[in-house]
Amino acid sequence: MTQSVNAHAPAFPSADALANGKVRSSHSPIFRPYWWDALPSEDNNGQNPVPAKCDVAIVGSGFTGLSAALTLARAGRDVVIFERGRAGFGASTRNGGQIGSGNQKFRVKTLIALRGRRKAEEMLREGTRMLDHIASLIETEKIDCHFRRCGRFRAAIRPEHFDAMAADMQDLKTIANVESFMVPRSEQASEIGSDVFYGGSVLPNDASLHPGLYHAGLTARTTEAGGRILDQTAVTHIEAVSGGFRVSTARGETVARNVLIASNGYTEGLVPELGRHIVPVGSGIIATGEISEQLYTRLLPKNRVYGNSNRVFYYFRGAPDARRIIWGGRVGRFAANTSPSAFGHLARDMLSVFPDLKDVPITHAWDGKIGYTYDEVPHIGRTSAGIHYAVGYCGTGVSRATYFGNRIALQMLENLEGRTAFDDLVFPPFPAHPIARRAVPFVEAWYRVRDTLNF
Ligand SMILES: Cc1cc2nc3c(=O)[nH]c(=O)nc-3n(C[C@H](O)[C@H](O)[C@H](O)COP(=O)(O)OP(=O)(O)OC[C@H]3O[C@@H](n4cnc5c(N)ncnc54)[C@H](O)[C@@H]3O)c2cc1C
Repeated sequence: MTQSVNAHAPAFPSADALANGKVRSSHSPIFRPYWWDALPSEDNNGQNPVPAKCDVAIVGSGFTGLSAALTLARAGRDVVIFERGRAGFGASTRNGGQIGSGNQKFRVKTLIALRGRRKAEEMLREGTRMLDHIASLIETEKIDCHFRRCGRFRAAIRPEHFDAMAADMQDLKTIANVESFMVPRSEQASEIGSDVFYGGSVLPNDASLHPGLYHAGLTARTTEAGGRILDQTAVTHIEAVSGGFRVSTARGETVARNVLIASNGYTEGLVPELGRHIVPVGSGIIATGEISEQLYTRLLPKNRVYGNSNRVFYYFRGAPDARRIIWGGRVGRFAANTSPSAFGHLARDMLSVFPDLKDVPITHAWDGKIGYTYDEVPHIGRTSAGIHYAVGYCGTGVSRATYFGNRIALQMLENLEGRTAFDDLVFPPFPAHPIARRAVPFVEAWYRVRDTLNF
């Protein structure tokens, strides 16, 4: 099979070369998020002055921070977002753009065993609301970001995974009225151009978007509503003072009545009480050059978003604006993130599913940090000092960060609609947090072994 590739293809390594460790670090042009190509290259470059005071200071300019700022600004609050890097530097402009409810994080039976039936039902129903929330936000705000209810195909890696998925989908329908259907192996060619799987499930309401354009649209609406974004302005210290908090940065300080921590996987020691509750986990993505229409349609006939049933799973989709394959998974954390060896396993996984892509160039490779919590659910609330937070989306944050940002803002506004099923969950810290941070690659390697040997 031959592929048509774009005119710049010769400058980039082939998927096969990346998979087989034949790429040297000198191929640095690939180390950039694909989504950033659609964004203007210039930032504000820290030009906006730090105001002496504001109503709400937000740390982090991702979906959580922007969604909260938009809600607060529309309610007439003076909101300032502080961002250490360029606006949207974190996961929000680096993710796969696959939109789910988060309801697949646990099997329904497991969630019921952990939380009890009533709480599990509340959480699952709220997951569905998160999916609907982002869809209606994008529609009402007229954000042009290729949002599409494309559906998700989750492929079974083993025959027994198919049966377990089918039972789980049935439970999801019973407890939270979530629509889905199963596709047996004999019919999976209608879903995917690969025969390595044992069928899979389809969640037709899951969606996709272009994360860079979604972030840009949310940014535009937030600033139009009066919110200010101060990029290149890291918050270095927060302390409680009379009437609120003093928020210090290298460029000056502000006094805010309320503070929101919206730094998720990029949370460090700023609020030690919170830092112990989140571990950053690296996640990587590669993007291919353009492929022919014929090949694209054969590989992804329904143009959905895709994943698999393993513990350490990979996920993929077509780019929304070109016939490219976007392929993600855990980043190889034993290597630096600008080293090709940190991405070789993604190319190997991709070729194991789609061997016809072996000569296609890899034009982009990038990583980002996912914020993991010990109990693997996101958390929303306030620290003992009264600092608000919404964090810990555990890799499913496009809908959840958008929703939690809105809900925590409503909570600050003392609007009862801000209540969520997650408000009263205990937020457990990681035992031995510094060790947990360093142990991530080893735990991941262990889970890969378990996936391979199926135990
Ligand atoms: C590679 C990758 C793929 C993913 N794929 C998907 C997907 O397909 N679907 C999905 O639902 N989710 C996905 N996610 C998860 C999703 O992107 C995140 O959950 C979501 O974007 C989190 O948004 P956020 O606003 O909370 O945090 P972020 O977008 O990470 O923003 C946090 C910001 O805080 C800033 N910050 C930190 N400390 C400070 C400080 N002291 N001062 C100022 N600023 C600070 C950081 O610079 C960062 O920009 C993926 C994540 C990654 C990394």
